[in-house]
Amino acid sequence: MTSMPSVFVSHGGPNVVIEPSEAHDFLATLAKRLPRPKAIVIVSAHFETDGPVVVTDPHPGMIYDFGGFSPELYEKIYPAPGEPELATRIAHMLQDAGLQPRIAPERGYDHGAWNPLILAYPDADIPVVQLSIDPHRDAEYHYALGKALAPLREEGILLIGSGHITHNLRAIFASIRHGTDPDPELPGKIEAFTGWFAEQFEKGDKDAILDWRSRAPFIAENHPTDEHLLPLFFAYGAAGEDPKPERAHHSRQYGFFAWDSWFFH
Ligand code: ZN
Repeated sequence: MTSMPSVFVSHGGPNVVIEPSEAHDFLATLAKRLPRPKAIVIVSAHFETDGPVVVTDPHPGMIYDFGGFSPELYEKIYPAPGEPELATRIAHMLQDAGLQPRIAPERGYDHGAWNPLILAYPDADIPVVQLSIDPHRDAEYHYALGKALAPLREEGILLIGSGHITHNLRAIFASIRHGTDPDPELPGKIEAFTGWFAEQFEKGDKDAILDWRSRAPFIAENHPTDEHLLPLFFAYGAAGEDPKPERAHHSRQYGFFAWDSWFFH
């Protein structure tokens, strides 16, 4: 069996599911670019816990963790089953890596999980295991989380980190409210930040990538808080040593909201 790449996606607001955009089209065709997975492990920026938590729920429900969107989005159901057996194995793998996981027997899909999945795998016939981020831990920790699960790729299991390459919500709200760009230099700062990651991945400079907080440009403008970038390090770690990164998607909305996706082969 060929090894499955690990994947980072920018997941957007739930409106990406129903509104046309370049990111919508990318997510809707993502599955065609990958071998069909036996199961999916997804780490969403919206599942925040203290230390790693693995979901064993065999039938996860839905979490509508957003406000002010179209009513039809509050009726979307993603019925893919969980896989308790795989979730338990994952907990053991994390334990063996010294990461001290806990189990959540019941938890639904937040929009960081179901946005990309409902577009990429609309048949919902592939079981999904959810794993949390820890917003108080750094890139190194999330890299280790991915690395501990890297062997699963050899079994045809798809490991996805779902966050955002840039996540300045304040700028989005200001732009929507006032109809103006809050900072005319913001698009350039977003390009510099996303381009910096592209350059480091191209060079394979793991030290620089994991030290992004000290080395990447315009952090405050791209990530006022870290949580939406952390799934990127999970996906990077999940690829194992020396991956071949592919910038699978790059688009910008409102000029300054970037939607990069990375495949790590
Ligand atoms: Zn989000």
